Amino acid sequence: MSSDTFDKSSAPETSNGVESAEVAADPNQGPAGTVRIRNWAMTLEADVVAVHKPATKAELVELLRRTNGPLRMGGARHSWSSGVMTKGGVVDMRGMNRVLSIDAAKEIVTVEAGIRMQDLYERLDAEGFALPSLPSSAQITLGGAMANAVHGSGFKYPATVADAAVELTLIKSDGSGEVTVKEGTRFVDSNEVTDLQLARVHLGALGALYSAALKIIPRYDLKIEEKTITLEEGFGEQLHRVAQQNDHHLFFWFPELNQVRAKLMNRIEPLQDPGQAQQLHGARYVTDAPSIEYDPKQQDEVLDLARNGRTQELHIPVTSKPPETMVTSWHVGPREKATLRRHGDLAYGVPIDRLEATMKALKRMFAETAPPVMPMWIRLVGRADSAMATAFDRPEAKMEFYPMLDVGTEAERRTQLEQASEIFLQNGGKRHWAKQGIGGVSSLSPNRVSAFQRLRSVMDPANRLRNEYSDEIGLTS
Ligand SMILES: Cc1cc2nc3c(=O)[nH]c(=O)nc-3n(C[C@H](O)[C@H](O)[C@H](O)COP(=O)(O)OP(=O)(O)OC[C@H]3O[C@@H](n4cnc5c(N)ncnc54)[C@H](O)[C@@H]3O)c2cc1C
Repeated sequence: MSSDTFDKSSAPETSNGVESAEVAADPNQGPAGTVRIRNWAMTLEADVVAVHKPATKAELVELLRRTNGPLRMGGARHSWSSGVMTKGGVVDMRGMNRVLSIDAAKEIVTVEAGIRMQDLYERLDAEGFALPSLPSSAQITLGGAMANAVHGSGFKYPATVADAAVELTLIKSDGSGEVTVKEGTRFVDSNEVTDLQLARVHLGALGALYSAALKIIPRYDLKIEEKTITLEEGFGEQLHRVAQQNDHHLFFWFPELNQVRAKLMNRIEPLQDPGQAQQLHGARYVTDAPSIEYDPKQQDEVLDLARNGRTQELHIPVTSKPPETMVTSWHVGPREKATLRRHGDLAYGVPIDRLEATMKALKRMFAETAPPVMPMWIRLVGRADSAMATAFDRPEAKMEFYPMLDVGTEAERRTQLEQASEIFLQNGGKRHWAKQGIGGVSSLSPNRVSAFQRLRSVMDPANRLRNEYSDEIGLTS
């Protein structure tokens, strides 16, 4: 079993790899018989009966067999939604983090699902490969990324991480069996979707995702440029065009300024001189803008601020890598001046033809309520090939609003969240599974949901994985 602790905020573990309250002499310890866990943003916490840390498939299966009662698998706990939070036990999947094989000829990597994306990117990079999509955090696990339909940006390459999966190995939640899902398997008889499409975005509800085989692509470098786009009538289409013209993009929208700061990323052949390029999530990038560099040394400071909720001015150079944490204000100039605060994350995918209307409505709302202190992130994505991804139905504009946890009163923040949610929903928005928001699987096609439920009844026969989150999104009740 792993000897790593779950993270700084969790209780110490015992020699058998289980965190238990008896041994947890820690200020973060929950009430007797429980261990307190938190998410990365420290917006959620739960007192769970144990945090289990299997390091191998055999240990995982044995654990699932041996234990009873509610359980959830956990990755890096980077979600703002409460998928990992349970009154039962948590299985920390991060001990199962090995690269099992790389088939260079077929361009397939097979990995254990607890692997941190950064580790996967680095290993692939060393072998001359990369993953097709680029979400902004490299600290998350593959299992967690797939569960929640985590995405990068763009139309030219699959933006949804889970779309790369060609074979999945899942362990039933009671440990009674292992199921391999790939093209051609048929646990679910559906003429709308395949088992593979169904299982890719698993919502943490299909047992434990032990491993995945992923399609990989040759390594590439990225050229990154930043520019400011002034929004004029018809800007929805303008942003759509910019997104289509570039391989990847990230729009930082400042509602008060009527501007979007665009980070545009395009794939180029790997550079001959690796000194010219720097790592960006496995793809390397090069840029000619002198100050476009993110100093990883600042990461700890930034994370510490985020974790402890303190407010302080930071001077972060213009970044070519989206920082691991968010910034509250973004003064365009030779150097960024950023103020970091603890924040939530409300995120929806809206149909692209509703992007402009949604932005206009949000702008009006923000002008009447507390102003947003961070730019919103907007990324456009093509259709996903994962049935439970909201972008399976349509290309989407993924829009994120980061409410500051120390701005205004709780009641004001709640009102703002509710109003923003209402605007997203009125514009056909569907909630991001990893983030705050309203809604659940009823926003997807009923046929797909019922096919997913059929697969779920195979993988979680005793409904062990039911938790408040699965109830909230309408998977269980
Ligand atoms: C700084 C930061 C940047 C981010 N950037 C992006 C981004 O660019 N794009 C985006 O879409 N999202 C982004 N997110 C959201 C993040 O990618 C998701 O929350 C992701 O799901 C987190 O993965 P995790 O490993 O932390 O999973 P967790 O939060 O630990 O778990 C998520 C879900 O997966 C389940 N689960 C995890 N592992 C397994 C497994 N092996 N088997 C079964 N179930 C499992 C859990 O039960 C839970 O339901 C970001 C978050 C942060 C904090």
